[in-house]
Amino acid sequence: MEACCICQSNLAKPVYESSAPFSITSLCQVLEGRTRVWHCEECGHTQTAPLPTLEKFYAEDYHILTASEGEDQLYEVRGSEKIFRTEHQIATLLEKVNLPVNARVLDYGCGKASTLKGLCGRRDDVVPFVFDVGEQYRRFWNDFVPTANQAINEVPVRWAGQMDAVLSFFALEHVTDPRAFVCAVHGLLKEGGAFYFLVPNIFANTADLVVADHVNHFSAQSLQRLLVDAGFIVRQINGEAHNSAWVVVAEKGEGVGVETETKSISQSVQEMAAYWNEFGDRVSAFEKAGSGAAAIYGSGFYGTFIHASLEQPEAVVCFLDQNPHRQQQVLLGKPIVSPEALPETVQRLYVGLNPRVAQTELAAESLPELEMFLP
Ligand SMILES: [Zn+2]
Repeated sequence: MEACCICQSNLAKPVYESSAPFSITSLCQVLEGRTRVWHCEECGHTQTAPLPTLEKFYAEDYHILTASEGEDQLYEVRGSEKIFRTEHQIATLLEKVNLPVNARVLDYGCGKASTLKGLCGRRDDVVPFVFDVGEQYRRFWNDFVPTANQAINEVPVRWAGQMDAVLSFFALEHVTDPRAFVCAVHGLLKEGGAFYFLVPNIFANTADLVVADHVNHFSAQSLQRLLVDAGFIVRQINGEAHNSAWVVVAEKGEGVGVETETKSISQSVQEMAAYWNEFGDRVSAFEKAGSGAAAIYGSGFYGTFIHASLEQPEAVVCFLDQNPHRQQQVLLGKPIVSPEALPETVQRLYVGLNPRVAQTELAAESLPELEMFLP
């Protein structure tokens, strides 16, 4: 990797390189090849070299949540109530963006476009448009988007300058040329139109540093730089409104660049890299310190990373997860079950959760006394 994809400065040595020759994607597939990550001290951006196997991953495996219409990721558990991600995204969008009556709203790189669908349910004046690559989502769009407002692989020329808002949920982190992406969005918006998007916030979820298919790991500073360079005024870069994400509101119009301070960012990124360099060793040490049947709490990225780091993964009998949609699935050949269904034979538990929330989440469960690995 030679240059920063945001500010185009030259890059030096990688800040992180995985010690074992495997990498894990955001959908928890284990791919061949090492994850290598660079940090740009000029603009505060962090980026991962795309793996050669990634293209195949997108072509064949990246059918995120297409199993069913209702399938969704668990966002938060409040008491006994489970809040799903799409629901929270709709509420946040309505709070952050003022959509005019009859607003033309494009979900750019939309997947199933569940959030846009939910928005149309709340605001029946909204005129929806959708764009993505690949045919696999069309059956979801047909429910609520007129065919003329659907585009696959290429955006029609007639859409240029027509949109009141362009939405993008968790797309830019996968894009190797974010400058081109943001430029394209700019071209689709009316003057004064809103670009509203969400990307993972690496500073709230350290796993983002080592997720193989996240090419971009944004800081508030690198987002600002990207948007101002493309001709946007940045209205908000919010790290509070959505767990582990940046919620960004920008407006098409000439903005003023701001001075950014990247020193503390660089230090945090270095600390994250150190955390992941030690993580595999900590898992091994726990593995060697005992024996017997084990389970992994969490069937997401951390859980997969732990499983892949084990010398004897056959000791793991199951994954535990609170998300009822996950409980119907199998990960790495092991069933995913609810925490209440933890088999009595299990004596050792690897906690595969974001370390920021692990203690709180575990405290809410009434798990038996077990030997425990904490992330
Ligand atoms: Zn840079």
